[in-house]
Amino acid sequence: MLTLTFLGVGSAFAKTNYQANALLEAWENSPSAQRIPDDTILLDFGTTGPLALHQLKHRSGFEHFDADGRIHYAAIRRIVITHTHADHIGGLEELASEITYAETEHKGQLARFPELIATQEIIERLRMHLLSGGLDVCRGKRAELEDFFAAKVAPPSAELPAFTSLGRYEFSFFPTDHVRIESAFDWPSVGVKVRDSSSDRFVIYSGDSRFDRERLLAMCSGATMVFHEAHLDPRAESVHTTLRQLRTLPEECRRKMILYHLPDAFDAREQAAASLEFKSIAQPFVRYVLFD
Ligand SMILES: [Zn+2]
Ligand SMILES: [Zn+2]
Repeated sequence: MLTLTFLGVGSAFAKTNYQANALLEAWENSPSAQRIPDDTILLDFGTTGPLALHQLKHRSGFEHFDADGRIHYAAIRRIVITHTHADHIGGLEELASEITYAETEHKGQLARFPELIATQEIIERLRMHLLSGGLDVCRGKRAELEDFFAAKVAPPSAELPAFTSLGRYEFSFFPTDHVRIESAFDWPSVGVKVRDSSSDRFVIYSGDSRFDRERLLAMCSGATMVFHEAHLDPRAESVHTTLRQLRTLPEECRRKMILYHLPDAFDAREQAAASLEFKSIAQPFVRYVLFD
């Protein structure tokens, strides 16, 4: 089984929601049959990620993230980064620092670093960003990214898996048209496709993206579920997708969509209206079963 739990479903500037980061857990059996998942994958980890994980670890079924009141970061095996905005990477410094701290507590026993999985361009941006900030020194020397993470470069193509979990769930990336410097796709950002090789079904996670009707229709037709970002303000359409745009999609596509990355203005009234037209509105701290 593969499950997805949102640590938050809010947009970059949301104050009533944690930012839209997700925890994927792969299980040989299921959460009801085993206490600890066999693989754990963070899908982005933004500024509010640590606080969200701190809350989550108190919830029933998520105790494997609790280490005597602290976050048990060593329970995270992999981290997938879709792009380098703070709501997607702002928690990495704490995560890396805590793993290093836990290592010194355990008498220098080397920690098992989580894999940091992203496209080449995003890995290079993370290298610059993290090492010019609070992670610039480690163990008495100038730090390298590899002092904290096992960096793994992923192909930016939905047809080429970046990695496979439990020998069954294939994760691949596709470029998204999010921020533009001069033209579409010239700033690195990706969405994620997860395919269950045993059933040939797949799920799409949009990442941050402008509305990309043709690509979305193509993906929607084969996917069992599409997690898609949704904003309200038309001014956001230069970097994001709005509800108004998603409403123009055919019903069979909308019925597969779970909306996330929501601004504060996406309140209960807006959610109630949208839930009639889409599969649902994403809820934080709820385990969604992607593949059983
Ligand atoms: Zn974002
Ligand atoms: Zn973004």
